[in-house]
Amino acid sequence: MRHRLTLQDTGMLIGALLVSAYVLLEVDVFVVEGVKPAAESIEADELPILGMVLSVGLLLFAWRRMRAQKQEATARMEAQAKLRDMAFQDALTGSPNRRCLIERLSMAVASPPAAGTVHAVMVIDLNGFKRINDVFGHGAGDQALVTTAQRVLSAIRDGDMVARIGGDEFVIVAMQLPSSESATGLALRVLEALGKPTMIAGVEQRLSAGIGICLLPFDGATPDETLRRADVALYKAKTTGQSTLRFFDDALDKQVRERDELEREFRRALAACEIQPFFQPIVDLETSKIIGFEALARWRHATLGEIPPERFVAVAEDIGLITTLSDQLLSMSCKAALTWPEHVRLSFNLSPVELRDINRGQSLLDLIAKNGLSPKRLEVEITESALVRDMNAARCVLGTLRDAGISIALDDFGTGYSSLYHLRNFKLDRIKIDRSFVQSMQKERESAEIVAALVGLGTGLGLAVTAEGIEGTTEEDRLRDLGCAQGQGFLFSRAVSAAETNQMFADEVDHRCA
Ligand code: C2E
Ligand code: CA
Ligand code: CA
Repeated sequence: MRHRLTLQDTGMLIGALLVSAYVLLEVDVFVVEGVKPAAESIEADELPILGMVLSVGLLLFAWRRMRAQKQEATARMEAQAKLRDMAFQDALTGSPNRRCLIERLSMAVASPPAAGTVHAVMVIDLNGFKRINDVFGHGAGDQALVTTAQRVLSAIRDGDMVARIGGDEFVIVAMQLPSSESATGLALRVLEALGKPTMIAGVEQRLSAGIGICLLPFDGATPDETLRRADVALYKAKTTGQSTLRFFDDALDKQVRERDELEREFRRALAACEIQPFFQPIVDLETSKIIGFEALARWRHATLGEIPPERFVAVAEDIGLITTLSDQLLSMSCKAALTWPEHVRLSFNLSPVELRDINRGQSLLDLIAKNGLSPKRLEVEITESALVRDMNAARCVLGTLRDAGISIALDDFGTGYSSLYHLRNFKLDRIKIDRSFVQSMQKERESAEIVAALVGLGTGLGLAVTAEGIEGTTEEDRLRDLGCAQGQGFLFSRAVSAAETNQMFADEVDHRCA
């Protein structure tokens, strides 16, 4: 331990030493040869006074040193306590941090709950936190986090812990709850507290969150595994996008592990261009001629087998790779389309996520230009949900495509909003009647009526109508009679590889010659 002398200390010490030297010299106690005393000899009765001055000086010096050392020690202890707090506390919200949480989790894992009770570990993740940061700035984001910490704290019992473990993620450790229902009750109280209005950046907002819950004890519990299980449950809760809670269970775990594997495999397959477009013909119901092909993504995995496009398209959307996938597929589709007769159109599915990016129209145009396909030969298929999610962005993207001569089809018509507003306001060229109606036309009178009404609606508005999912000639005949001009379905063909499409034209010619 090192103590530094202050200027005052040093002065006092030198003063005391000078006085002592003077006294010693004056009383001839210490005479150096050749050194002549500087002053007259001191009187004997002055000695006690000088001794007292010297003692007082030394005492004062010692007292000051002691006081300084004490102050220094207190400051050091305070700084150490602060550092300790900082190591265990989140600076923004004052909540315990991850380190502190792990300590509490270790304790929860090591001390199993009393009979009939459970410990609950809940991971809370705010919904729309990124939006608050993006729209209102990081100050508002911080405010939201502080409010969250306070509200969660107000909802839990004394003795329970709420820690912030990073970003907008908080964890509650509630020990000795009477039952799993109490855990549900606690989570609901948290969601309710969060949902109360609050002012953030001068605007009234309501916070919402997903909560994933893992109950202790379980076999092989560790702090890490407990958090992982709560995270798995959270992942599921978050898919709803609303205030929800989910408990961990084995089926959920399996689902999430499979999803993880699919995501990993998808990234690999995308990089290796393993996902290919196949093409399903769209035929003129009057002439039975192919007038176009719809590109449908196909992924045959070496061990997992054929993976349905709906599954991997959803993964691509989730992880922000849908545009990359779409670009790859469209590029390959354009190359195939260039081998078809001029009048044969390429239909290509766009994901709702793509329509939210206002630059997507131009990037699609650049891509088809690079591949040498005329925009007039391309039709994009969109669903109504894409129009609803961000109407302005969709209008912008579709406007760019339309202006360039690309036509627009509304897919799966009849299943979604089936809104006349969309039909009128989005300058569409075609509707595609969903296959669920076409397939049940035979069995259900109601479906047949719906198909008739949808064909009437489309043709009445001057739109081309395609019926999807035609599997039998009875439906084909019925649709033709209703005035539906085009159809698609297993009756004509399933989706085939690019190489096989050309064989289809050859067969068509042969058929005509025969
Ligand atoms: P969709 O756009 O409605 O595509 C039509 C689906 O109906 C295809 O399923 C097709 O194989 C199936 N289908 C066609 N005719 C029949 C029939 O007669 N009977 C039956 N039962 N089914 C028939 P697929 O290929 O599994 O695609 C499913 C969905 O995945 C597509 O529905 C589309 O929404 C999406 N999808 C496929 N490829 C892509 C893609 O490249 N990009 C995007 N964004 N979505 C895609
Ligand atoms: Ca489609
Ligand atoms: Ca469809």
